[in-house]
Amino acid sequence: MDIIIKNCLVLYENSYLKRASIAISDGIIKEVSENIENEANLILDARDKIAIPGFINMHTHAAMTLFRGVADDLSLMKWLKEEIWPMEKNLKPEHVYFGTLVAAIEMIKSGTTCFNDMYFYIDEVIKACRDIGIRAYVSFAMFDFGNEDVAERNIKEAEKYLNKGVKSDIVKITLAPHAPYTCSEYLLKKTKELADKYNVLIHTHISESKDEFVKFLKEKGKTPIEYLNDMGFLGENVLAAHCVWTTNKDIEILKRNNVNVIHNPVSNMKLANGIARIYEMMRNGINICLGTDGAASNNNLNIIEEMKLAAILQKFRYKNPEILKAEDVFKFATINAAKALGEKTGMIKEGYKADIVLLDMKNTRVLPLTNIFSHIVYSIDSSCIDTVIINGRLVMYNKKIVTIDERYVYEKFLNAVLDLYESSGKRDKLIL
Ligand SMILES: [Zn+2]
Repeated sequence: MDIIIKNCLVLYENSYLKRASIAISDGIIKEVSENIENEANLILDARDKIAIPGFINMHTHAAMTLFRGVADDLSLMKWLKEEIWPMEKNLKPEHVYFGTLVAAIEMIKSGTTCFNDMYFYIDEVIKACRDIGIRAYVSFAMFDFGNEDVAERNIKEAEKYLNKGVKSDIVKITLAPHAPYTCSEYLLKKTKELADKYNVLIHTHISESKDEFVKFLKEKGKTPIEYLNDMGFLGENVLAAHCVWTTNKDIEILKRNNVNVIHNPVSNMKLANGIARIYEMMRNGINICLGTDGAASNNNLNIIEEMKLAAILQKFRYKNPEILKAEDVFKFATINAAKALGEKTGMIKEGYKADIVLLDMKNTRVLPLTNIFSHIVYSIDSSCIDTVIINGRLVMYNKKIVTIDERYVYEKFLNAVLDLYESSGKRDKLIL
């Protein structure tokens, strides 16, 4: 065996806690039982720990840690057009590499073992994920604003990546047309063809703001979801971030096409985009996942916070404390996401990928131990996350990242930020 997690409380099959040891080999959970032999390269004494599946952050722009705090308290369109997009024009590959590493450290420290990303310079994103050892689905954001030449360039570039592939067990490529308001019908249809041809996922933003929703109704006489449905874009390979503005018909369309909806409550609230109808979507059988969105709009990448807010926001919206139980939301952040990705993770069980988080039981936030789902969704914070294993590799031990030198990363990240802000005429925004 590669690793044995000895004698912990295991959240088995996402259903109940049992005292057992976990044997891991070749990145896979081989055995979960009381009687595991003491032979492994690494044995972790986990008497005071609870083993749970790692969380999956299904929508983020990891390297946007570079822009944390630079432009807050604005509407989505103002924030994008006047602040973020101009600065992103000055991005260089090394900025993205260190921005992604800082994001990965933050995610791992809050129990995330896999994330679904959309950004630029994806060779750097891939390298960062492989270096630190976090599982990731990686895509570059495609925009064409109606220009067919730009659309063609995007598609060529995407196909180049799909042909090349990624030599990694933990990183996979997806396609990311940014949104229906930034991509032409031509680009969206071409993306769909490519996704079907190479059997990859499509990661996009749909119906995020009222502006987008109203614009589609005015210009096309249909909602963004109807528009995408009419062109044959929607399907079970679509990972749709937001879906805040939806009609009953939209929800029916999402369900009929088995679209996976990614709820981002913090970003939606902060940009005042609204509250998605997650409870109704869930009741209609739509697969719901959770995302943090980027650190420029959230402003952190902590999926634990997202779980709590997702639950209480829906209760508040529907004025009913009995809906969206802790267990439902826990599934959003684990097994539902795994299902959307087609990845055998999100659960501790023999044969599943060894993406495991050990919670520290000697922490006030899990005392007394009563309902594990309630503790995870409503009570814990990052201080409870002790150890993280991803694809059978020890990535964090005793609250310390062991795969890279954190201090080196922070130093390089700050150099990258300085360079980026200086070239964007925003040096005055930095307090260094
Ligand atoms: Zn986003």
